[in-house]
Amino acid sequence: MQLRLLPIAVLALCGSPCSATEKPNILVILADDVGWGDAGCYGATKVRTPNIDRLAREGIRFEDGHASAAVCTPTRYSLITGQYSWRKNAVGLNKGVATGMSPLLIPTQTGTAPGLLKRAGYKTAAIGKWHLGFGLAEPDYNGDLRPGPLEVGFDTFFGLPATNDRMPTVFVRDHRVQGLDPNDPIRCSYDQSVAKKQGLGAWAAGRSRIGWASGGKSAWWKDTEIADTLKRECVGFFERNKNNRFFLLYTPHNVHAPAIPHPRFAGTSGLGNRADMLQELDACIGEVLGALDRLNLTKNTLVIYTSDNGAYATDEKGHKPNGPFRGKKSQLWEGGHRVPFIVRWPDRINPGVSGDLVSTIDVPATICAAAGVVPSNADLSDSFNLLPAMLGDKNATRRDQLVVMSGNGHFALRFGNLKYIPDLSVADGWEAGKKKKQTNARQPALFDLKKDPGESNNLAAEQPDKLAHLASRLKEITTVNERNAPPRRQPDNLQNGSGKK
Ligand code: CA
Repeated sequence: MQLRLLPIAVLALCGSPCSATEKPNILVILADDVGWGDAGCYGATKVRTPNIDRLAREGIRFEDGHASAAVCTPTRYSLITGQYSWRKNAVGLNKGVATGMSPLLIPTQTGTAPGLLKRAGYKTAAIGKWHLGFGLAEPDYNGDLRPGPLEVGFDTFFGLPATNDRMPTVFVRDHRVQGLDPNDPIRCSYDQSVAKKQGLGAWAAGRSRIGWASGGKSAWWKDTEIADTLKRECVGFFERNKNNRFFLLYTPHNVHAPAIPHPRFAGTSGLGNRADMLQELDACIGEVLGALDRLNLTKNTLVIYTSDNGAYATDEKGHKPNGPFRGKKSQLWEGGHRVPFIVRWPDRINPGVSGDLVSTIDVPATICAAAGVVPSNADLSDSFNLLPAMLGDKNATRRDQLVVMSGNGHFALRFGNLKYIPDLSVADGWEAGKKKKQTNARQPALFDLKKDPGESNNLAAEQPDKLAHLASRLKEITTVNERNAPPRRQPDNLQNGSGKK
């Protein structure tokens, strides 16, 4: 099922010999909680997204793109490691999301896309929301935030530790909280009894947040400034690295709640704060793409724009953030994980629209292939190389199956046009609890997404053979995980070959 493009194949597809200097720069933009329908190029008429639309016009717009999970942390893990997050037995990876006090969730010996690209000579950076933890046991926000992004392949990091609605409300640069006054240390907990004992508050940087904290006031961000700050960091990274090969993972916090746009965007959509924040996202993307133009880097920069999960809103005064799809963020319905997916590389990729099944988990293998990097069999093992199809190779293998995970850690399987949900009573993700209590029976479902994109016609009773086949496929794929793994005979660093690294 894996297709790894060998370097010789890259040569064959170049049209002319590709020298090392023709390797592309790589920019991956992972938006936050932006739905499939959140752009003009995906049919939206009430929001203005000229810059995302420009990317689509100049590249390939995929109509069947999916986040690997319906919430933030697991999708982000997969986008960096090329592995399904649920193969790891950790909260935030096999269900839920990371808190602001989570340890680093990516084992440092993991083969990652930034690590592989760095070894191939790329300057690598992550700028934006991290939400994958720091430290071995928990982050030390008053000291060294190690291990973190720099220990899994990034040369540099700037951004939010978790989410814009979670403590602590500070920016981290590389291993340190930026602008922290040592006389006002940060204390933070996600345990209410600890918070009570330590006198921690739920209020920071002007509003209530998830978790409890105190201190660090000199380092607090302003919600209205986050988008501009991240965008400036991206432009600065391009300027410093215009003569290098670079990989930037830009992860804006737009449009995660609380939706607080900069005042110059407030009210611009006429639909509400979230849609205003979407237009702010588009403008930031415009400035980042504009910097590539100005530095004459556009033609040989591979840009991928996608989102970490579907939108949490289903209707904003007639705007449909998840387009025609059922459900929303955290859910197994398409609205939970069907996301925008656009790829642009003017030097190599012809513009168009594609119906291929693609996922955020495919980003690592695809960008490594574009850079001529061939991962070992252990690295990026769930990631499918989309590059041959993107380059127009008519014989390219297409992804034919994909597992997606809900916020409550349940699976659905996409197989061709069919989608299998083992238990409908948990399909509503974080909102499934009440429904689940109403019945103890599993209610399997089978939908034909080609005929029924809104997932309203359950074919489970009509097609028991297909149902059984997909159930068996899902079991086969998901059985390989830490919880079910036999005892290991070798330590991690030998077993996955990372002792060589
Ligand atoms: Ca998200």
